[in-house]
Amino acid sequence: MAGGARLHAATAPSERRVGVTAFLDELQRMIALEGPISVERYMALCLGHPVHGYYVTRDPFGAGGDFTTAPEISQMFGELIGLWAAEVWRLMGAPAPVRLVELGPGRGTLMSDLLRAARTVADFSDALDVHLVETSPVLREGQRQKLGGSAGSIAWHAALSEVPPGPAIIVANEFLDALPIRQFMRSERGWCERLVGLADNGRLVFGLAPEPETRLPAGGRPGDILELPRAALDLTRDAAERVVTQGGAALLIDYGYCGPAFGDTLQAVKRHAFADPLAEPGEADITVHVDFTRVAAAARECGAVVHGPVAQGDFLRALGIEARARALQARASEGQAADIEGALRRLTDETLDAMGALFKVLAIAHPGLGVPPGFPAGQVR
Ligand code: SAH
Repeated sequence: MAGGARLHAATAPSERRVGVTAFLDELQRMIALEGPISVERYMALCLGHPVHGYYVTRDPFGAGGDFTTAPEISQMFGELIGLWAAEVWRLMGAPAPVRLVELGPGRGTLMSDLLRAARTVADFSDALDVHLVETSPVLREGQRQKLGGSAGSIAWHAALSEVPPGPAIIVANEFLDALPIRQFMRSERGWCERLVGLADNGRLVFGLAPEPETRLPAGGRPGDILELPRAALDLTRDAAERVVTQGGAALLIDYGYCGPAFGDTLQAVKRHAFADPLAEPGEADITVHVDFTRVAAAARECGAVVHGPVAQGDFLRALGIEARARALQARASEGQAADIEGALRRLTDETLDAMGALFKVLAIAHPGLGVPPGFPAGQVR
């Protein structure tokens, strides 16, 4: 388990309450003035509002926070991705320098574990030019502290498009699920955009735009919800165009499904439990499930070759997580060995309500790359 101080721990509950009220006030005033806002705008404001946004104001990770991600569960996750990246670099023809880009690095744990594992492949390690794409100033500072010694040579950016050109290996864990989506609900009138408005008592409530969106395909039954992950698809296209024109691959890992499917996947999580996404804007994490079919299609449209999606458990096993766990256990105390076993199960188990099956892994690659490690050769499309 990764440790580390929580960066927002100094905020007293009473001050936090004021923060919630201020943001809710602002949203209420905005909606009163401009009318109901789209789910996309609501999600973007809740997560990224420059003063009150969820990621802007805190480090939400770990047992004491709101949720735990794979790199925070075990060092094995980032280490194996480091070895994946080293092998991809070899398949790329070992370019030097190579841009190693992480999107939404959180606490910097994945990158820290990745770089440590990369040091076992000296020429790869020497070729690395590390770029982090992160919008949260609080998390950027945490990443700077975590990556300590290597931080001198690391550059931060607000978007992938800012990363200097050149062959690249791009990694993103639980990033696409934080990008805002539009939602439409099938009504008698057709697909109407789902909006966030105000009830008579001033509370935030979901509603529908009066006019249907005519550019959406027909189909669905009244009450069905259709999600349009505009930002995730734009990001996928940016990554795909980049690896197709300049070489390399992108590894996308997220909670998701293979569509097409109707359904409302918008969810809020606070202190490791589901919450009402409208109840405390800016105080709960808001995510969506990623439709990997659409992400893969967007990448292919740009000329990239797509590998997967495969279940996270299969991917990590193919990279050798079991052998890595045994190696770590051989040097561990009894208690630590049990923790490593627990982490292994949490990351790979498909029978529990665990990450092994719910999380999926997709690679977007230059057509000449070949099959990256962790993906079955027969699946290339
Ligand atoms: N990859 C990390 C953190 C996942 S949480 C882990 O696995 O632990 C999502 C991360 O994406 C956070 O670091 C958040 O600040 C960042 N983020 C969210 N929206 C972003 C955006 N539009 N651009 C850049 N970073 C973003």
